[in-house]
Amino acid sequence: MDFQYDEQQALFQSAVREFVEAEVVPNAARWEDEERFPWDTWHQLAELGLCSLALPEEYGGAGGGKIMLCIATEELARGSGGLSVAYLVSCGVAMDGICMYGTEGQKANYIPRCAQGEVAFFALTEPEGGSDVAPMRMRYRASDDSFVLDGTKTFISNGEESGFGVVFATKDPELGHRGVSAFVVEKDTPGLSVGRRERKTGQHCSSTNELIFDRCTVPRSALIGAEGQGLIIALESIDKSRVSVAAQALGIAQAAYDEMVRYAKEREAFGKALGRHQAIQWMIADSATELEVARLLTYRAAWLIDHGNLAIKESAMAKLYASEAAGRVCHRAVQVYGGIGYTREAAVERYARDQRVTEIYEGTSEMQRWAIARQVLGVK
Ligand SMILES: Cc1cc2nc3c(=O)[nH]c(=O)nc-3n(C[C@H](O)[C@H](O)[C@H](O)COP(=O)(O)OP(=O)(O)OC[C@H]3O[C@@H](n4cnc5c(N)ncnc54)[C@H](O)[C@@H]3O)c2cc1C
Repeated sequence: MDFQYDEQQALFQSAVREFVEAEVVPNAARWEDEERFPWDTWHQLAELGLCSLALPEEYGGAGGGKIMLCIATEELARGSGGLSVAYLVSCGVAMDGICMYGTEGQKANYIPRCAQGEVAFFALTEPEGGSDVAPMRMRYRASDDSFVLDGTKTFISNGEESGFGVVFATKDPELGHRGVSAFVVEKDTPGLSVGRRERKTGQHCSSTNELIFDRCTVPRSALIGAEGQGLIIALESIDKSRVSVAAQALGIAQAAYDEMVRYAKEREAFGKALGRHQAIQWMIADSATELEVARLLTYRAAWLIDHGNLAIKESAMAKLYASEAAGRVCHRAVQVYGGIGYTREAAVERYARDQRVTEIYEGTSEMQRWAIARQVLGVK
């Protein structure tokens, strides 16, 4: 049993942390205010090898695995929730289907592009529902040499910045999950347009948009896996990626906790530092404990995945616990800051806003509990 990073992981973590301290932390609040994707920083990330980190070596990736991806995501999230979601979608869930089920041609084309910093999207959610995705509305028609996609996807991260992405559509809603197929689509394909940008609570530097497919014609080579395999590809991609959202929640919570501890030492009330008052000590103690539990669950799930397990239950537990614990930690951090914690003067209000969605995307907390219970009870 080993509860610490190995030498390579520790070196990697300190390199990413150094980068985040220098390039992300000082700029994150401004990116949020301007609702602007930090392209320069993104290109630096790619140059540092972060975009290729978890991609297969045969196609220009670094083959770093889930633990490394979680380290990178956690550290980026300490600096900027928005940057970290762009990262975990583009270099994680959007690429998983291509890496697992893609043809040689798709892998040879898209993996190097992602590794070099091209941004990708993953389009599953529809206006009618994100938790229950099987009754899909978006349709496709097959012809001899192409597929024609029609419909709307909603809440798509990287909607504006991406150059390509994966989208799911059904041949016939009557076929249920057996009708769904997955396609990789270039963003500049005629018939694909970027719709409304969501006005979110947080993570403003990352775009979240509608994607509208109107007689969008893609070549047959755009099909990922076999026809009818789409829902399996979608769910396996999310199962694989979910632990990175746990790492993201952990990073946001760590940032909030660090600020809370610093302020508790600095600020005085009733003649002594806030941290000398028991009520504040309890908030810090509970947060420290919950962070520790979240970290153990997250990296254990990542370790299981790196050792060839699907780790569906463990990833769901990690995401459920880390995201909800992060909510409690961010809430306490705002409380310890008092009035200033409710203003843009303090970074803790941003962390609290950025954290909230970690309980929603890539499966809500309710869906995680459902997944865990199904595994425990052996229900298919
Ligand atoms: C900022 C942001 C970025 C996102 N990025 C992406 C992306 O890149 N790609 C993508 O495809 N999607 C993305 N999403 C969509 C996200 O995955 C969905 O919002 C999420 O899965 C929930 O779906 P929904 O919003 O339709 O809620 P619904 O499915 O309508 O659920 C509403 C509520 O009901 C609960 N509920 C639903 N069914 C049950 C049940 N059986 N039992 C108990 N409770 C239930 C849910 O837990 C939730 O609390 C993003 C969302 C946000 C906010």
